[in-house]
Amino acid sequence: MSNATKLIHSIPVDPLTGSISVPIYQTSTFVQEAPGENKGYDYARSNNPTRAALEKVIAELEGGQAASAFASGLAAIDAVVKLLQSGDEILAVDDIYGGAFRLFTHIYAKFGITVNYVDTTQVVNVIDAITPRTKLIWLETPTNPTLKISDIEAIARIAKQHGALLCVDNTFASPALQQPIKLGADLVVHSATKYLGGHSDLIAGIVVAKTEELGAQIKFIQNASGAILSPNDSWLVIRGVETLYLRVKEHSRNAQLVAEYLQTHPAVDKVYYPGLKSHHNHDIAARQQSGFGGIVTFNLKEDTAEAAREVVCSTAYFKLAESLGGVKSLLCHPATMTHKSIPAETRRAAGVTDSLIRLSVGLEDAGDLIGDITQALDRLSGVVARQVEAEAVGQL
Ligand SMILES: *Cc1c(COP(=O)(O)O)cnc(C)c1O
Repeated sequence: MSNATKLIHSIPVDPLTGSISVPIYQTSTFVQEAPGENKGYDYARSNNPTRAALEKVIAELEGGQAASAFASGLAAIDAVVKLLQSGDEILAVDDIYGGAFRLFTHIYAKFGITVNYVDTTQVVNVIDAITPRTKLIWLETPTNPTLKISDIEAIARIAKQHGALLCVDNTFASPALQQPIKLGADLVVHSATKYLGGHSDLIAGIVVAKTEELGAQIKFIQNASGAILSPNDSWLVIRGVETLYLRVKEHSRNAQLVAEYLQTHPAVDKVYYPGLKSHHNHDIAARQQSGFGGIVTFNLKEDTAEAAREVVCSTAYFKLAESLGGVKSLLCHPATMTHKSIPAETRRAAGVTDSLIRLSVGLEDAGDLIGDITQALDRLSGVVARQVEAEAVGQL
């Protein structure tokens, strides 16, 4: 059976009524026949049939044994960190999602969990940095926003040798393009807000575990801490995920065209897209992903926040907003938006320069999107030309 068929038919038909859409069980509790005797559900924080249907679908998509759906991607990340204890260390990708950095640095540091940020695109850096205290390796691949690629299979082997867990934030690739558990990861997290939901209409997170045992530990943490996904939002993610393969294929096709075009524009300096031959780790991406995704990042020859501002405020179809992965194209300026909580030096060292712009290429027509970005960039060339002219006049 193909993955697309498997996905659509892993969403169950309701056994009670035959409803082809998963029912939304909007309830807090479940009536019991006798104390402790129930139909598998007792209280809706612990479990809910709508949420359970979503968890089963995502576990299957990722090739894991169990999944837990959370109120946000960060709540999912938080649950994974709660597997650790004081004195443990996380070895994390340096180009990490800003919210994960904030959680690790400003919350978990207080509880004695330390983080060592490493450029994981070079496997040797992971080998050099791992210590007996390293209990969790945290990868994002591709990363946000410079789309760095790390070799999941190689790093999974190192994690195993050292008795550390490997967790991969698979938000950018989605299981339609990459299945980290099949490459050796122990855990996968998602901001389901992005491609899994796919329509920019909810906030949600998922943790998928390779084993039943790890899945049960995450479930325990979820029930103990309480950051569950509501039945309504669980239903919306199920609804979104039905078209995951279709959407991600088209996002990737559009993004490849936009990336190739950007390389030719005179105002653009570097273009980051794993589908470009020029990408630093294109070979690894081509090996571990079945497509390159919908995110394209680039910076400008004029590497200033002002120049980037001019561009991000001038597009019509690309809407200026944080987030990504929806049908509508979005763009953002990481240095002043998603990555503003990261200190400037750390941010620049990770490649997030002042003019860096991130595109979430949506499902509009690729020609329209390229036209939109062209007129915004051309405006910038106009600004530069005017400045040069003004300076020349001033010198006269
Ligand atoms: C958005 C995002 C998150 C956080 O998810 P929320 O749903 O916003 O809490 C985590 N990781 C990555 C890579 C993201 O893009």
